[in-house]
Amino acid sequence: MCWAGGFPKRGPVATVRDVNAESYRVHLQESDIPTHWYNIVPDLPVPPPPPLNPGTKEPLAPEDLAAIFPMGLIAQEASAERWIEIPEPVRELYKLWRPSPLIRAHRLERALGTNARIYYKYEGASPVGSHKTNSAVAQAYYNAQAGVKKLVTETGAGQWGSALAFATEAFGLECEVYQVRSTYDSKPYRHVLMETFGATVYPSPSDRTNAGRALQERFPDTPGSLGMAISEAVEVAATSEGVNYSLGSVLNHVLLHQTVIGLEAIKQLKLFGEQLPDQLYGCAGGGSNLGGIALPFLRENLEGRGNTEITACEPAAAPSLTQGEYRYDFGDTSGMTPLLKMYTLGADFVPDPVHAGGLRYHGMAPIMSHVYHEGMMKAIAVKQREAFEAGIIFAKAEGIVPASESNHAIAGALRAAREAAEAGTSPVILIGVSGSGQLDLPAYAEYLNGTMLDA
Ligand SMILES: *Cc1c(COP(=O)(O)O)cnc(C)c1O
Repeated sequence: MCWAGGFPKRGPVATVRDVNAESYRVHLQESDIPTHWYNIVPDLPVPPPPPLNPGTKEPLAPEDLAAIFPMGLIAQEASAERWIEIPEPVRELYKLWRPSPLIRAHRLERALGTNARIYYKYEGASPVGSHKTNSAVAQAYYNAQAGVKKLVTETGAGQWGSALAFATEAFGLECEVYQVRSTYDSKPYRHVLMETFGATVYPSPSDRTNAGRALQERFPDTPGSLGMAISEAVEVAATSEGVNYSLGSVLNHVLLHQTVIGLEAIKQLKLFGEQLPDQLYGCAGGGSNLGGIALPFLRENLEGRGNTEITACEPAAAPSLTQGEYRYDFGDTSGMTPLLKMYTLGADFVPDPVHAGGLRYHGMAPIMSHVYHEGMMKAIAVKQREAFEAGIIFAKAEGIVPASESNHAIAGALRAAREAAEAGTSPVILIGVSGSGQLDLPAYAEYLNGTMLDA
């Protein structure tokens, strides 16, 4: 090409889509971090059924929660405001890892031989490697504002515990964590991570609480469950002065905090020159990362701007949406929480000890349950070997080893990409990759050496 006559003559003016068709990433600035969280409740055509006080069976009053949550979070739990401002100290901490990357999976597309355009929103670049930090820093902030000294919580695979351990440290609170025994034992680096941030960690059920002792009697040699660990943490918070409880998923305020994921993704897809995606896949344990990425897109659907098909990908070992009943149930095993209207396998359900610890929960967020019940979302169940097979294809192409949980979302997207290849279509597919799998390598080892249960 000869440059002597100036710049080469341009062809027709490129559309934004042409310009970015080859891009892998688009770049948002710190100033693009959302200033408000999005609350879908006022936009839902039918309001979700309220939580009930288990004693009176009447809708829960804010005071019912005051023994374990600060007023700032209780207000969000019941809020009818569409946009809730993110406090400046929380936005300041978000700057450590937000905006999170949205990446065009060109290499995955080529590996699959698909014409689908696949994007993933990656939350594994947060300080502790998952989306959980988005809510942890908000929860620690409101508790610190309320003068609380210590937060007690449960954790499954340890991501929530480490996110809260980091967040409490940042706001000068203490942190006590009840970790599901099976993951405490099988993933020892998880509790070391929490302890590094200054938290104290106990395997659950423990003999430190009435709930823990009773559960050990009822279920000898139990691997533990999130429901059991919640019972212990709630008991400690409800019976100690200056101590509150913190939940990493399920509740409205947690999904609210996670909406930063979807709000950023909408902006990023625009920069890629895309409209709204045709399909969106997220893994669903308690529903927070899925809600976080999907609810802003559901708003676009409800307002007629988008038509994104949203699919919850749950583990076959804890298939609350696809196999559970939609009814009021407790969030924990001992019946200490309010009654939540949700898809549930029963508060007593103890799933197989599959590797995706964060998905081993008997229920589902009331908002996501409602959205599913109203036909605004689909759900599929994925066995863990299919999930890891997908995760390894993804890792080889993208260079990121996803969290065990995230593999379920990737498996859902790979099913869709294969269907598209068969049908000769080219949908835009968005995957929520909720975390990094660097600490899940023992599970990858089991998959690779052929000993992983097909549960
Ligand atoms: C906790 C966790 C999940 C499951 O929880 P949700 O509330 O359903 O998001 C999924 N992925 C990762 C990486 C997690 O840490």
